Amino acid sequence: MSVTFGCREERPGEYVRVVCLCAQEADRWGAAFRDPRLLDDPAVQAELRGEADPECEHCEGSGVELEQPPDPAWFNVCNETARALFGALGVPSGGALGMLGELPLPEARRALIRARNRPLAPFLRAPSIVRGGPVFRGDGLIALSPLRSVDDGLSEEDLRHWLDRFGQLVEEAARRGAGSVCWG
Ligand SMILES: [Zn+2]
Repeated sequence: MSVTFGCREERPGEYVRVVCLCAQEADRWGAAFRDPRLLDDPAVQAELRGEADPECEHCEGSGVELEQPPDPAWFNVCNETARALFGALGVPSGGALGMLGELPLPEARRALIRARNRPLAPFLRAPSIVRGGPVFRGDGLIALSPLRSVDDGLSEEDLRHWLDRFGQLVEEAARRGAGSVCWG
């Protein structure tokens, strides 16, 4: 189970140019993959077009396709991490219906300042391994304590990362003209 954070305002159509996989044989494909600024060079454009598949549905034979970069106003965490994040922010997670809620931007900003200035230890989790009881396996052997699940835990560094990510969401939501951030 996981919780998705975002805002209701739609993402503006922001695209970046990237090399298309179909033009991989082009000499400077790798260089342009690492540094898309090379795509401004007409010689590189010609090289990519020369190697691209004219029928390619991603780049229509140009060797260059448009891609949306990862959305800064969207992230997803597991339920345990979401609970820690809400704890640190001092925000109720949404109550009986599960983790579903909305927070106006000014409140979100205040919550973030609170979270960054409080001890985070109460919200952290040590890594743990959960094992189950003995199980008869199909091959006639008995697994005495089979692995049930592995929890990587949540370090202070992890939680600070998610607080920063939440801050990034708040600022991106403001940039898009949204009045609040939401989760569900
Ligand atoms: Zn292509």
